[in-house]
Amino acid sequence: MPAQRTLRQVAPVTGIGLHSGQKVSIALKPAPANFGIRFLRADLGVEIPAHVSCLGGAQQLQTGLRKDNASVETVEHLLSALTSLGVDNVLIEMNQAEVPIMDGSAAPWVYLIQAAGTRELAAPRRTIEILSPVEVRDGDKRIAVYPSKDFKVTYTISFDHPLLRHQEKTLDITEQVFVDEIAPARTFGFLKEVEMLRQRGQALGGSLDNAVVIGETGVLNPLRFDDEFVRHKMLDAIGDLALLGAPIRGHLVVQRGGHALHTAFAAELLRQPDAWRYVDASAPAAAPVAARVPARQPAR
Ligand SMILES: [Zn+2]
Repeated sequence: MPAQRTLRQVAPVTGIGLHSGQKVSIALKPAPANFGIRFLRADLGVEIPAHVSCLGGAQQLQTGLRKDNASVETVEHLLSALTSLGVDNVLIEMNQAEVPIMDGSAAPWVYLIQAAGTRELAAPRRTIEILSPVEVRDGDKRIAVYPSKDFKVTYTISFDHPLLRHQEKTLDITEQVFVDEIAPARTFGFLKEVEMLRQRGQALGGSLDNAVVIGETGVLNPLRFDDEFVRHKMLDAIGDLALLGAPIRGHLVVQRGGHALHTAFAAELLRQPDAWRYVDASAPAAAPVAARVPARQPAR
């Protein structure tokens, strides 16, 4: 029976924040069952759970959490790696607000977690099983989740740029698929926006070492996948949904999403408790929705 997991040992690393440009020391530490994923601003003595209830700020370029006077920023790539590698319980200790960007992907976090190793705890893993569709729309942006026996993501991006007008991808997200197909995909940005971001004090730590930069006619650094952009959006969505506090069993479908839409959706899902239920990961998937309809309450 799938049990909750934590790290086998402490995993420390240093890096710089993409937006702050500041050097940060971070350590992933083993935690007990039902602890969940929590950040600790060691410099402020404040613990911040990785949960939608702690979302703070506009969530435009990154996903940030806030509690009391403390915040943690750019949490999504690390959360994506932790949840995809089945790390349910971990304390993430930091001495600065922003999680280091590393190479702009989740691959360095995968490496760090795998190097530390994981171990089982004496408690079953709890999963969110989707029972009926939930959707959030914002103009031409859309995100929805549908019942599915496994976690699956379909992502579509459309930009007004010749290099990435339209990319769509669907993947069943197992640990191995995440490691091979999603984790290496890097953050991307448009060259023409870099100067504007810097004037606003953002992207100060950004460089060709940690982001794919898209110019007018081509990318400034070699791609890891032809469709690296849509893969990175999948990475972001998985990390943002980790703020639900439990892995999801359902099919996530996103069109033109971003952190604001992903996180708004996570919050909306928790506001619709009729649309899902917690199950131990060992429990079989529920019967098809149609077979269960008579037993369900009428729609409101
Ligand atoms: Zn990202």
